[in-house]
Amino acid sequence: MAATILVVEDEPGIQEVLKFNLGQHGHDVIVAADAEDALGLLRGALPDLILLDWMLPGMSGIDLARRIRADQRLRSVPIIMLTARTEERDKVLGLDTGADDYITKPFSPRELMARIKAVLRRRAPQMTEDPVEVAGLKLDPVSHRVYGDGMPLDLGPTEFRLLHFLITHPERVYSRSQLLDHVWGDHVFVEERTVDVHIRRLRGALEGTGHDKLIQTVRGAGYRLSETVV
Ligand code: CA
Repeated sequence: MAATILVVEDEPGIQEVLKFNLGQHGHDVIVAADAEDALGLLRGALPDLILLDWMLPGMSGIDLARRIRADQRLRSVPIIMLTARTEERDKVLGLDTGADDYITKPFSPRELMARIKAVLRRRAPQMTEDPVEVAGLKLDPVSHRVYGDGMPLDLGPTEFRLLHFLITHPERVYSRSQLLDHVWGDHVFVEERTVDVHIRRLRGALEGTGHDKLIQTVRGAGYRLSETVV
């Protein structure tokens, strides 16, 4: 389960420890030293998860978490707060501001990895390696295979990620720009019609078993994966 993780932390020592440990577990790490820096990075690509230090110079981690939760585009990114032991009494406040979890410094790398995994499993099921099945269409992230009624189907890497996202969020409509954020990780440098191209290819790959009907166009809104064929 490799994720792109934005670390917002001002202490270089802790930045290094996090970079090393997350990297060892296959995660890509982006580091911001303060909230302004983090907001700048978030304007480009969305990470899969944010590790957010409570005490930052300038805007605090709590205020940044509030900003992120109030932002239409950023609100779905999971946040784990890093807090010092003395701040632990305030943890409820941290969770109320929209953090998904918190971890107390000094932390064990093992505990941190377990919490990251749990938060991703809950908030971003497309990041996990659990197989998913809807209406006979099955996707297995471990073997990177897709089956339609038990028959192997041939998907390109982008179509695979697109299907993985849609099949783990069934019955929900996503706009092109939301899909760019979640599947491409970027809504700035890729054109929206790129999404249409890959949706077309995905449908083509699913056609053989009739599962292309699950990928539905919602006029004026975007796309959804639904078992209910209209
Ligand atoms: Ca700090």
